[in-house]
Amino acid sequence: MNLTWQIGDSTVTRIEEQLGAGSYPPDQYFKGFDPTVVQSNLSWLAPNHYVPESDALITSVHSWLVRTKHHTILVDACSGNHKDRHFWPRFHMLETPYLERLAEAGVAPEDIDFVMCTHLHADHIGWNTMLKDGRWVPTFPNARYVLSRRECDHWDPAKNPEGADDPHRRIAYQDSVLPVIEAGLAELVSGPHSIGDQLLIEDAPGHTPGHILLKLLHPSGGGVFCGDVIHHPIQIYAPDWVMCFCEDPDQSRKTRRRVLEHCADTGALLLPTHFGAPHVAAIDRSRDGFAARWINPG
Ligand SMILES: [Zn+2]
Repeated sequence: MNLTWQIGDSTVTRIEEQLGAGSYPPDQYFKGFDPTVVQSNLSWLAPNHYVPESDALITSVHSWLVRTKHHTILVDACSGNHKDRHFWPRFHMLETPYLERLAEAGVAPEDIDFVMCTHLHADHIGWNTMLKDGRWVPTFPNARYVLSRRECDHWDPAKNPEGADDPHRRIAYQDSVLPVIEAGLAELVSGPHSIGDQLLIEDAPGHTPGHILLKLLHPSGGGVFCGDVIHHPIQIYAPDWVMCFCEDPDQSRKTRRRVLEHCADTGALLLPTHFGAPHVAAIDRSRDGFAARWINPG
């Protein structure tokens, strides 16, 4: 069942693709890992975020379906079905009922006005396209796909042959980003960018060079859809731990702290892409940093 939160006069629904144990134990997943932080937070980490018996981190892959008064927006597009990701078994040749879950939320692909990808890693762009008659075509035919220009340039082999040389990333760009650009549906943004009067896109580099985030603005605090600015809730307590695939560790720490401070100062809810249940947190300040206050749906 899809979970829905009310934020101001908008609704936010989690569309799940997958939820379960990640591929790496915490000491490989995080640079700077310190097991004593996990031990001192075990009371809330287990079982939704960490399984002590197997030393496994629980991670989710989901989209956020945001319905404002004027627009229907999908934030991050998970891994997609039937995609060749043989280098990452968790994302390889999936057949998940993702579109059925979207339908359960009352939304058909044609209803989506905007798709916003925080960055162009394979687990955030997959449902940008689907297989039709042997070709990858945009899944959301009436949407504008909002992508970071800097991020697109980074993964475009014609513009950055060196950066796009990674075969894992190149195949994902070719089957999940290029068809959207070629169909004329991409809107490439640089710097702050508004969608209507309630949504604001900002740069949030570090995990990747062109990573962006989406703020849902509301006087009560709103929310921040921050993709992979933060991967796991233990990083609220250890913001300087860097996920192993972050391209610029120092910048990722700076951006993570900036977002946590923003949430703590304004009351904005934190809505990342990979947090386990209940997936959404408010951020409080604690004596030595930050603390999570979990927000249940409803
Ligand atoms: Zn990710």
